[in-house]
Amino acid sequence: MRIDLHTHSDASDGTDSPANVVRLAAEKGLAVVALTDHDSADGWAEATEAAERHGITLIRGMEISTKHEGEGVHLLAYLPDPTYEPLVVELDRILDGRDGRLAGILERLWHVGVDLSEEEVRQQVGDSRAVGRPHIADALAKKGIVGSRDEAFAQYLNPGRPGYVARYATPTKTMIELVTAAGGAAVVAHPWRRNRVVDGAVLEGFVEVGLVGIEVEHQNHPEEARAALRGLARDLDLITTGSSDYHGLGKLDHDLGCNTTPVSVYEQLLDRAAAHARESGRDVPAVVGR
Ligand code: AMP
Ligand code: ZN
Ligand code: FE
Ligand code: FE
Repeated sequence: MRIDLHTHSDASDGTDSPANVVRLAAEKGLAVVALTDHDSADGWAEATEAAERHGITLIRGMEISTKHEGEGVHLLAYLPDPTYEPLVVELDRILDGRDGRLAGILERLWHVGVDLSEEEVRQQVGDSRAVGRPHIADALAKKGIVGSRDEAFAQYLNPGRPGYVARYATPTKTMIELVTAAGGAAVVAHPWRRNRVVDGAVLEGFVEVGLVGIEVEHQNHPEEARAALRGLARDLDLITTGSSDYHGLGKLDHDLGCNTTPVSVYEQLLDRAAAHARESGRDVPAVVGR
Protein backbone atom coordinates (compact mmCIF):
# COMPACT_ATOMS: atom_id res chain seq x y z
CA MET A 1 0.00 0.00 0.00
CA ARG A 2 1.76 3.14 -1.27
CA ILE A 3 0.92 6.53 0.21
CA ASP A 4 1.98 9.96 -1.09
CA LEU A 5 1.14 12.85 1.23
CA HIS A 6 2.27 15.99 -0.64
CA THR A 7 1.15 17.00 -4.15
CA HIS A 8 0.19 20.18 -6.01
CA SER A 9 -2.39 20.86 -8.70
CA ASP A 10 -3.21 23.90 -10.79
CA ALA A 11 -5.26 25.12 -7.85
CA SER A 12 -1.82 26.47 -6.90
CA ASP A 13 1.39 26.08 -8.90
CA GLY A 14 1.17 22.50 -10.17
CA THR A 15 0.38 21.92 -13.83
CA ASP A 16 -2.32 19.21 -13.58
CA SER A 17 -5.92 19.80 -12.57
CA PRO A 18 -6.88 18.39 -9.14
CA ALA A 19 -8.85 15.60 -10.87
CA ASN A 20 -5.81 14.68 -12.96
CA VAL A 21 -3.47 14.58 -9.97
CA VAL A 22 -5.86 12.10 -8.35
CA ARG A 23 -6.30 10.07 -11.55
CA LEU A 24 -2.54 9.88 -12.16
CA ALA A 25 -1.97 8.83 -8.54
CA ALA A 26 -4.51 6.01 -8.98
CA GLU A 27 -2.87 4.96 -12.26
CA LYS A 28 0.51 4.85 -10.49
CA GLY A 29 -1.03 2.35 -8.08
CA LEU A 30 -1.02 4.63 -5.06
CA ALA A 31 -3.59 3.71 -2.41
CA VAL A 32 -3.64 7.16 -0.80
CA VAL A 33 -2.81 10.61 -2.11
CA ALA A 34 -2.95 13.95 -0.31
CA LEU A 35 -3.65 17.10 -2.32
CA THR A 36 -1.69 19.88 -0.63
CA ASP A 37 -1.91 23.03 -2.72
CA HIS A 38 -0.30 26.20 -1.46
CA ASP A 39 -2.45 28.15 1.00
CA SER A 40 -5.76 27.00 -0.46
CA ALA A 41 -8.46 24.33 -0.31
CA ASP A 42 -9.79 25.31 -3.72
CA GLY A 43 -8.88 21.97 -5.33
CA TRP A 44 -10.55 19.80 -2.71
CA ALA A 45 -14.03 19.49 -4.22
CA GLU A 46 -12.78 18.41 -7.65
CA ALA A 47 -10.22 16.04 -6.10
CA THR A 48 -12.86 14.49 -3.85
CA GLU A 49 -15.09 13.69 -6.77
CA ALA A 50 -12.16 12.24 -8.73
CA ALA A 51 -11.06 10.08 -5.78
CA GLU A 52 -14.51 8.51 -5.58
CA ARG A 53 -14.44 7.85 -9.31
CA HIS A 54 -10.95 6.31 -9.38
CA GLY A 55 -11.21 4.33 -6.13
CA ILE A 56 -8.29 5.98 -4.37
CA THR A 57 -8.20 7.44 -0.88
CA LEU A 58 -7.84 11.23 -0.79
CA ILE A 59 -6.48 13.21 2.13
CA ARG A 60 -7.51 16.84 1.91
CA GLY A 61 -4.55 19.01 2.78
CA MET A 62 -2.73 22.26 2.16
CA GLU A 63 0.86 23.48 2.25
CA ILE A 64 0.79 26.76 4.14
CA SER A 65 3.38 29.54 3.90
CA THR A 66 4.72 30.37 7.36
CA LYS A 67 7.76 32.12 8.76
CA HIS A 68 9.87 31.35 11.81
CA GLU A 69 12.36 34.00 12.87
CA GLY A 70 12.53 35.40 9.36
CA GLU A 71 12.96 32.06 7.59
CA GLY A 72 10.25 30.52 5.43
CA VAL A 73 8.76 27.29 6.76
CA HIS A 74 6.24 25.33 4.70
CA LEU A 75 3.62 23.71 6.88
CA LEU A 76 1.54 20.77 5.66
CA ALA A 77 -1.95 20.80 7.16
CA TYR A 78 -3.96 17.58 6.89
CA LEU A 79 -7.76 17.54 7.22
CA PRO A 80 -8.27 20.96 8.79
CA ASP A 81 -11.81 22.39 8.77
CA PRO A 82 -11.50 24.82 5.83
CA THR A 83 -14.41 26.91 7.16
CA TYR A 84 -12.75 27.66 10.52
CA GLU A 85 -12.89 31.44 10.43
CA PRO A 86 -9.52 32.29 12.06
CA LEU A 87 -7.82 29.96 9.56
CA VAL A 88 -9.75 31.44 6.61
CA VAL A 89 -8.74 34.96 7.65
CA GLU A 90 -5.06 34.02 7.84
CA LEU A 91 -5.07 32.13 4.51
CA ASP A 92 -6.68 35.17 2.89
CA ARG A 93 -3.88 37.35 4.25
CA ILE A 94 -1.31 35.00 2.71
CA LEU A 95 -3.14 34.90 -0.63
CA ASP A 96 -3.45 38.70 -0.65
CA GLY A 97 0.29 38.89 -0.02
CA ARG A 98 0.93 36.62 -3.01
CA ASP A 99 -1.27 38.77 -5.20
CA GLY A 100 0.14 42.08 -3.95
CA ARG A 101 3.71 40.98 -4.61
CA LEU A 102 3.21 40.46 -8.34
CA ALA A 103 3.32 44.14 -9.38
CA GLY A 104 6.52 44.63 -7.35
CA ILE A 105 8.22 41.67 -8.98
CA LEU A 106 7.27 42.86 -12.47
CA GLU A 107 8.57 46.35 -11.70
CA ARG A 108 11.87 44.96 -10.46
CA LEU A 109 12.16 42.80 -13.58
CA TRP A 110 11.45 45.88 -15.72
CA HIS A 111 14.41 47.62 -14.09
CA VAL A 112 16.74 44.84 -15.27
CA GLY A 113 15.36 45.02 -18.79
CA VAL A 114 12.77 42.24 -18.61
CA ASP A 115 9.44 43.30 -20.04
CA LEU A 116 6.72 41.03 -18.68
CA SER A 117 3.12 42.13 -18.20
CA GLU A 118 0.68 41.22 -15.45
CA GLU A 119 -1.61 39.84 -18.15
CA GLU A 120 1.08 37.42 -19.34
CA VAL A 121 1.49 36.12 -15.79
CA ARG A 122 -2.29 35.90 -15.18
CA GLN A 123 -2.52 33.60 -18.20
CA GLN A 124 -0.29 31.13 -16.35
CA VAL A 125 -2.12 31.60 -13.04
CA GLY A 126 -5.51 30.73 -14.55
CA ASP A 127 -8.14 30.34 -11.82
CA SER A 128 -5.65 29.70 -9.04
CA ARG A 129 -5.87 32.13 -6.13
CA ALA A 130 -2.30 31.31 -5.08
CA VAL A 131 -0.17 33.38 -7.43
CA GLY A 132 3.31 31.91 -7.22
CA ARG A 133 6.76 32.58 -8.56
CA PRO A 134 6.43 29.40 -10.67
CA HIS A 135 3.67 31.15 -12.64
CA ILE A 136 6.00 34.09 -13.30
CA ALA A 137 8.74 31.63 -14.23
CA ASP A 138 6.42 29.94 -16.72
CA ALA A 139 5.47 33.30 -18.24
CA LEU A 140 9.19 34.12 -18.64
CA ALA A 141 9.78 30.74 -20.27
CA LYS A 142 6.78 31.11 -22.57
CA LYS A 143 8.18 34.43 -23.75
CA GLY A 144 11.55 32.80 -24.40
CA ILE A 145 13.33 34.97 -21.84
CA VAL A 146 14.47 31.83 -19.99
CA GLY A 147 14.60 28.17 -20.98
CA SER A 148 12.88 26.68 -17.91
CA ARG A 149 11.32 27.28 -14.50
CA ASP A 150 14.62 26.42 -12.87
CA GLU A 151 16.48 28.97 -14.95
CA ALA A 152 13.90 31.65 -14.15
CA PHE A 153 14.37 31.02 -10.41
CA ALA A 154 18.15 30.97 -10.66
CA GLN A 155 18.37 34.12 -12.75
CA TYR A 156 15.50 36.24 -11.50
CA LEU A 157 13.24 34.89 -8.79
CA ASN A 158 15.29 33.36 -5.96
CA PRO A 159 16.16 35.49 -2.92
CA GLY A 160 19.05 37.75 -3.83
CA ARG A 161 18.11 37.80 -7.52
CA PRO A 162 16.73 40.99 -9.13
CA GLY A 163 13.09 39.90 -9.29
CA TYR A 164 12.76 38.70 -5.71
CA VAL A 165 10.15 40.30 -3.44
CA ALA A 166 9.26 38.91 -0.01
CA ARG A 167 5.62 38.32 0.87
CA TYR A 168 3.50 37.86 3.98
CA ALA A 169 3.62 34.52 5.80
CA THR A 170 2.02 33.59 9.13
CA PRO A 171 4.32 32.93 12.11
CA THR A 172 4.81 29.15 12.13
CA LYS A 173 3.65 28.57 15.71
CA THR A 174 0.50 30.62 15.14
CA MET A 175 -0.32 28.52 12.09
CA ILE A 176 0.31 25.22 13.89
CA GLU A 177 -2.16 26.40 16.55
CA LEU A 178 -4.72 27.41 13.92
CA VAL A 179 -4.46 24.10 12.04
CA THR A 180 -4.77 22.16 15.29
CA ALA A 181 -7.75 24.24 16.43
CA ALA A 182 -9.30 23.56 13.02
CA GLY A 183 -9.13 19.83 13.78
CA GLY A 184 -6.19 19.22 11.45
CA ALA A 185 -2.73 17.73 11.84
CA ALA A 186 0.33 19.91 11.13
CA VAL A 187 3.56 18.50 9.64
CA VAL A 188 6.62 20.58 8.68
CA ALA A 189 7.28 20.11 4.94
CA HIS A 190 10.87 19.41 3.79
CA PRO A 191 12.43 21.07 6.88
CA TRP A 192 15.98 21.02 5.53
CA ARG A 193 15.34 21.83 1.86
CA ARG A 194 17.13 25.19 1.87
CA ASN A 195 18.73 25.54 5.30
CA ARG A 196 18.75 23.86 8.69
CA VAL A 197 17.16 26.64 10.74
CA VAL A 198 14.48 24.21 11.90
CA ASP A 199 16.63 22.25 14.37
CA GLY A 200 15.77 20.18 17.44
CA ALA A 201 15.18 23.19 19.69
CA VAL A 202 12.90 24.88 17.16
CA LEU A 203 10.96 21.65 16.62
CA GLU A 204 10.53 21.26 20.37
CA GLY A 205 8.81 24.66 20.40
CA PHE A 206 6.59 23.60 17.51
CA VAL A 207 5.66 20.34 19.28
CA GLU A 208 4.51 22.35 22.32
CA VAL A 209 1.85 24.04 20.19
CA GLY A 210 0.66 20.89 18.43
CA LEU A 211 3.06 19.82 15.67
CA VAL A 212 2.50 16.17 14.75
CA GLY A 213 5.35 15.36 12.39
CA ILE A 214 8.03 16.29 9.88
CA GLU A 215 8.43 15.35 6.24
CA VAL A 216 11.69 13.44 6.02
CA GLU A 217 11.66 11.43 2.79
CA HIS A 218 11.76 14.27 0.25
CA GLN A 219 13.77 14.71 -2.94
CA ASN A 220 15.54 17.79 -1.58
CA HIS A 221 16.89 15.91 1.47
CA PRO A 222 20.11 13.94 0.98
CA GLU A 223 20.33 10.63 2.84
CA GLU A 224 22.48 12.15 5.58
CA ALA A 225 19.79 14.79 6.28
CA ARG A 226 17.09 12.14 6.33
CA ALA A 227 19.00 10.11 8.89
CA ALA A 228 19.57 13.14 11.13
CA LEU A 229 15.92 14.22 10.84
CA ARG A 230 14.75 10.71 11.75
CA GLY A 231 16.87 11.00 14.90
CA LEU A 232 15.29 14.35 15.83
CA ALA A 233 11.82 12.94 15.22
CA ARG A 234 12.52 9.95 17.44
CA ASP A 235 13.65 12.21 20.29
CA LEU A 236 10.56 14.42 20.00
CA ASP A 237 8.04 11.65 19.31
CA LEU A 238 7.16 13.11 15.91
CA ILE A 239 5.93 11.05 12.99
CA THR A 240 8.05 11.12 9.81
CA THR A 241 6.36 11.24 6.43
CA GLY A 242 7.61 10.70 2.90
CA SER A 243 6.17 12.35 -0.20
CA SER A 244 6.80 13.41 -3.76
CA ASP A 245 5.91 17.15 -3.64
CA TYR A 246 4.60 16.51 -7.16
CA HIS A 247 4.03 19.64 -9.30
CA GLY A 248 3.30 18.01 -12.68
CA LEU A 249 5.61 19.36 -15.34
CA GLY A 250 6.56 22.21 -13.01
CA LYS A 251 9.19 20.40 -11.01
CA LEU A 252 11.40 17.67 -12.38
CA ASP A 253 12.41 14.62 -10.34
CA HIS A 254 9.29 14.83 -8.14
CA ASP A 255 7.19 12.07 -9.72
CA LEU A 256 4.11 10.86 -7.88
CA GLY A 257 5.09 8.16 -5.40
CA CYS A 258 8.85 8.80 -5.65
CA ASN A 259 8.81 8.92 -1.84
CA THR A 260 6.09 7.34 0.26
CA THR A 261 4.79 7.16 3.82
CA PRO A 262 4.42 3.81 5.63
CA VAL A 263 0.86 2.72 6.48
CA SER A 264 1.56 2.74 10.23
CA VAL A 265 2.66 6.39 10.05
CA TYR A 266 -0.35 7.29 7.94
CA GLU A 267 -2.64 5.70 10.54
CA GLN A 268 -0.96 7.75 13.28
CA LEU A 269 -1.46 10.91 11.24
CA LEU A 270 -5.18 10.16 10.91
CA ASP A 271 -5.43 9.35 14.61
CA ARG A 272 -3.85 12.69 15.53
CA ALA A 273 -6.14 14.62 13.20
CA ALA A 274 -9.13 12.76 14.64
CA ALA A 275 -8.02 13.65 18.17
CA HIS A 276 -7.67 17.32 17.21
CA ALA A 277 -11.12 17.25 15.64
CA ARG A 278 -12.68 15.81 18.80
CA GLU A 279 -10.75 18.19 21.06
CA SER A 280 -12.08 21.13 19.05
CA GLY A 281 -15.67 19.85 19.25
CA ARG A 282 -15.88 18.64 15.66
CA ASP A 283 -16.88 15.36 14.09
CA VAL A 284 -13.91 13.32 12.92
CA PRO A 285 -13.43 14.42 9.29
CA ALA A 286 -14.19 11.91 6.58
CA VAL A 287 -11.27 10.60 4.55
CA VAL A 288 -12.54 10.25 1.02
CA GLY A 289 -12.58 6.67 -0.25
CA ARG A 290 -11.34 5.09 2.95
P1 AMP B 1 6.22 31.13 -4.06
O1 AMP B 1 5.06 30.26 -3.69
O2 AMP B 1 5.87 32.19 -5.01
O3 AMP B 1 6.99 31.63 -2.87
O4 AMP B 1 7.21 30.17 -4.86
C1 AMP B 1 7.62 28.99 -4.23
C2 AMP B 1 7.32 27.82 -5.11
O5 AMP B 1 8.28 27.81 -6.13
C3 AMP B 1 7.38 26.48 -4.42
O6 AMP B 1 6.30 25.69 -4.83
C4 AMP B 1 8.62 25.84 -4.93
O7 AMP B 1 8.45 24.48 -5.08
C5 AMP B 1 8.80 26.50 -6.27
N1 AMP B 1 10.22 26.61 -6.63
C6 AMP B 1 11.20 27.10 -5.87
N2 AMP B 1 12.39 27.05 -6.52
C7 AMP B 1 12.12 26.49 -7.72
C8 AMP B 1 12.93 26.16 -8.86
N3 AMP B 1 14.23 26.39 -8.86
N4 AMP B 1 12.32 25.61 -9.91
C9 AMP B 1 11.00 25.38 -9.91
N5 AMP B 1 10.20 25.67 -8.87
C10 AMP B 1 10.74 26.23 -7.79
ZN1 ZN C 1 4.66 24.69 -5.21
FE1 FE D 1 7.17 23.47 -0.13
FE1 FE E 1 5.08 21.61 -2.04
